[in-house]
This record gives sequence, C-alpha cells and structure tokens, in this order.
Amino acid sequence: MATLLETWRSLAYGDGLDDKKKEELWTNYFTIEKGIYEKILSNPTEVVEGTVKELAEKYGTEVLIMTGFLDGINESLKGYENPIDTMAEDTVVKIEIDPEKLYYNMVEAKASWLYELPQWSEILSAETRTELYKKQKASGTVRRQGHKIYPNDPCPCGSGKKYKKCCGRNA
Ligand SMILES: [Zn+2]
Repeated sequence: MATLLETWRSLAYGDGLDDKKKEELWTNYFTIEKGIYEKILSNPTEVVEGTVKELAEKYGTEVLIMTGFLDGINESLKGYENPIDTMAEDTVVKIEIDPEKLYYNMVEAKASWLYELPQWSEILSAETRTELYKKQKASGTVRRQGHKIYPNDPCPCGSGKKYKKCCGRNA
C-alpha cells in the first residue's frame, strides 16, 4: 500500500490530475498552508504533538494536506525530522519550529507571502531577517515548493492578483 507521502506526492506532482485540477489543489493547499503558518508563528515556541490525523483536525484540514504541510516543514524543525516517508495517519508527529531555519527555507522557496507574514516581526529581529535573506540569496539555491507557479497564475499569497504582478515580481 502507498504511504501517505506517496499518495500526496502522486496527487500533487503526478500526472493523475489535469492542469486545472492541479491548479485548484495547489491554490487550496497554499491557502491552508498560510493559515497553519499564521497559527504556528503566533505561538512560535509551542511544541505541537499528535498523530497526523489529530494535527489535520487541529488545523481544520485533511490528512493528505497535512501530509504535504509536514513534508514542507520537515527541514525547518528544531533538531529532528518527522518520519514523513513512512508515516501513516496514526503516526505521532511533532512540530517545533527552528525559526531561523524556517525563515531561510521560506526565502529559498520564494514564498514571500510566508516570509513576509507580520508574525515574523515578533520572532526574529529585522536585522536577523535581513541577514538570513541575504545569506539565502548568496547561496544561489532555489527550492521549488510544490509545483511551478506560472506568471499568469493567481498569486498563492491570496491577494487575488496575478503572480507576476504580486509576489512574483522580483522572483
Ligand atoms: Zn502575492
């Protein structure tokens, strides 16, 4: 049987959905992801623990979307990783963010709608954020979070503008 991560990845990155359906899936994903980050960043030292199913319920989403979220955040946690390759819905996972790693990884994903969330100003100083931003840009690494966003797609930040006229302007 396919693991949760395999199921999520084949749905989100595979060929099973047409472009329109895939666009809908990602638009929905980005909206939910932003909402979860707003909650996490409002209480950044909280350690959230529970099964994948419980976390999906806590954040008001589905297990597969939660799987995608856990996949995305896995390299931004404090000194550990969740067993995302093998986890099932009753696997206990933990979210305790490492703010500097998370901010850096959001910059790497060019997710300005995430690294510009107002909650960041309470977590990292403007100086630290500028430093991390510059360090990431100097590294030359680009991470594609999820699928490619085309210039005329709606911006995942939820502004309602086209990506090229919004967060994609300097991307
Ligand atoms: Zn935007």
